Amino acid sequence: MQLNTNCVTRFAPSPTGRLHLGHAYSAMLSHDLARARSGKFLLRLEDIDTGRCRAEFVDSILEDLSWLGLNWDADVVCQSDRSAAYEDALHRLIDLGLVYRCWCTRAEIAAQAASAPQGAQRLYPGTCRHRYDGSPDPLPFSWRLDVQAALDHTGPLFWQDQQAGHVPAQPQLLGDVIVARKDAGTSYHIAVVVDDAWQGVTDIVRGSDLFDSTHIHRLLQAVLDLPTPLYHHHPLVLDAEGGRLAKRRGSIAIADLRAEGVNPGDLMAALRLGQLPDGYRLSA
Ligand code: GLU
Repeated sequence: MQLNTNCVTRFAPSPTGRLHLGHAYSAMLSHDLARARSGKFLLRLEDIDTGRCRAEFVDSILEDLSWLGLNWDADVVCQSDRSAAYEDALHRLIDLGLVYRCWCTRAEIAAQAASAPQGAQRLYPGTCRHRYDGSPDPLPFSWRLDVQAALDHTGPLFWQDQQAGHVPAQPQLLGDVIVARKDAGTSYHIAVVVDDAWQGVTDIVRGSDLFDSTHIHRLLQAVLDLPTPLYHHHPLVLDAEGGRLAKRRGSIAIADLRAEGVNPGDLMAALRLGQLPDGYRLSA
């Protein structure tokens, strides 16, 4: 069998908390795919949200991954060092006329959503789409992607998902998402597509909670002339109540398992068989 030696995968946590079992599972799948294909496994810290990211969590992520035996193959990339690349991408979208300024506050959007018909409630209603009249406005604004205009620009799009197969991109399901936040000047969506292309990622392994974001990522890749990787959206690790793991839900952290004397080799061997510690299971 011909090995795909160009396979590049990545694990891209946000240092806003300690890693839990869901992270370990995702990082393991991404790491093992790269190893199975003699490829590269990269680590990227998605730390654009400076208000929520902490240096102590960066240290604990590196420590936890090393303890789990999930070693990465190149220098760690920090998104906080990459703002110039995100600005370039945003300017490309501005030049193409595919984004618009939005001054809405969270409270205004919540009020608009409350009066919207069922189903349209979670989508931005486009209030600011034609609002900018060219006059300088001192108030801070975010940039939103005009999804319909972008789709008119690209035509129909698809992506390949290892589990879901051939997926038609439907970015309209997410509406006119923010591509540059008022506070950060960029967003998860821009940063992730720009960095996956820059790092040469061929296979994106991540939780199924990000499946819908891929509709937007595919659209941004097409508009920004970036390659489209192969996607592997995997099941999520759930707790006994069927909830997603999160620090605020009291989910056990990898560091807690380490402190309890858990053997990382045994833990990883079980995870590789899809066996989770008592009280945890995989989503459908
Ligand atoms: N930074 C994201 C997270 O921690 C993951 C992004 C991705 O895998 O595309 O959920």
